[in-house]
Amino acid sequence: MDTMPRTVAMVSERSAARLATGHPWIYRTDIQRIEQSSAASLCEVQTARGRFIGRGVYNPSSVIAIRLFTREPGQPLDDAFVETRARRAVTARHALLDGQDARTTACRLVFAEGDGLPGMIVDKFGPVAVFQSLALAAEVCRDAVLRVITSEPRLGIEYIVERNDAPVRILEGLAEAKGPWPPSGSPPPDPIEIREGPMRFLVSLLEGQKTGHYLDQRDNRAMVARLAAGLAARARAAGTRLSVLDCFSYTGGFAVAACRGAAGCGEIGRLVCVDSSAPALALAERNLKLNDGPQNAEMVCANAFDYLRELDKKSARTDRDGFDLIILDPPPFAREKRMVEGAMRGYKEINLRAMKLLRRGGFLVTCTCSHHISRDIFQAILVDAAADARRTMRLVTATGQPEDHPVLLGHPEGDYLRCFVLQDAAGGQ
Ligand code: SAH
Repeated sequence: MDTMPRTVAMVSERSAARLATGHPWIYRTDIQRIEQSSAASLCEVQTARGRFIGRGVYNPSSVIAIRLFTREPGQPLDDAFVETRARRAVTARHALLDGQDARTTACRLVFAEGDGLPGMIVDKFGPVAVFQSLALAAEVCRDAVLRVITSEPRLGIEYIVERNDAPVRILEGLAEAKGPWPPSGSPPPDPIEIREGPMRFLVSLLEGQKTGHYLDQRDNRAMVARLAAGLAARARAAGTRLSVLDCFSYTGGFAVAACRGAAGCGEIGRLVCVDSSAPALALAERNLKLNDGPQNAEMVCANAFDYLRELDKKSARTDRDGFDLIILDPPPFAREKRMVEGAMRGYKEINLRAMKLLRRGGFLVTCTCSHHISRDIFQAILVDAAADARRTMRLVTATGQPEDHPVLLGHPEGDYLRCFVLQDAAGGQ
């Protein structure tokens, strides 16, 4: 970073107003004047009248042309500054890990803009740090961030893995790459076992989705464990057995949580995991075994839309056929704003069918990870789905992402996860 060329950019009124709300991006179309517009550089950002706004990294190849790092006039943008930011991020995670169940060995160490390190993601899975640099700004601060993370003894990092195979890198003019870091370094054990409280997970760091494991659902998995404990006890008292459907299960995160929660409270009679990825389901099966899950879990490799439709059609709709607990954790349906309408139809469909498949008093844990689908929009979709399913549902709680995924206020793009817990409220249960 210290050796990069430097430049000054003047931005439009509209951009200055957006930046004043805390948003950290400057779009290419908002730049009114810039010297050396064709070279990646460290950039001082000013209003059209020359008033200082901040400092960031300029990428001529990206629509998001400048990502702001600092708004302090006297603060140089250099390696020392990036190291300070990385140390701040790591210190916050120590507080988080200390406050969690001591057995937990995985968390997000750096969450991009939310940690003042635009585009930079670092996840800790036991002794392995997995990073993604999703913007040129992240690429230029990568070495300083990794230096801090590997030199922090309490983190115990022994291996680094690069997961720069995310297609968004193309938008930044960056090539895709993955493997041990540096490329000559030794690869970590794969899969590696991590813990989230009492849960044990095998995570495939090189072949798994994203960085290997969806850390953003950690607290929601713990919540599902609590729900399953209550449901299992209730089922036992009623002489029935718990049935659980984990839709879009990936490697079985929520299914494992349900098993751990139910353990000791009552038996799981039926557990179904549905995902379109065969390798994810294979790992889910191993994760269920690792957590003493039921022997007869059904692993269904299918399109969840088709599966839910079929089940809805087939089911005689007696309470016995339904599920006590259904989890819906689909991939983002609206990656762009123009996709919101179609996405709303998709969310409504799966939620409507899931509600119809719920037993009386059962819980639906339903998520969206599209930042374009706000809490209000999601709630409206769920109201609509319940009306069409002719179900009386109550909202038990609505959560989001955990504190190792902080969001810069004024940067809605960082706030993407909504998780609603609904309960069928028609019966007397
Ligand atoms: N709940 C998981 C994360 C789910 S990520 C956890 O806690 O770890 C979303 C998953 O949906 C991915 O595993 C992906 O393979 C799967 N998926 C995407 N489209 C799908 C579809 N149409 N039908 C079924 N699964 C799908």
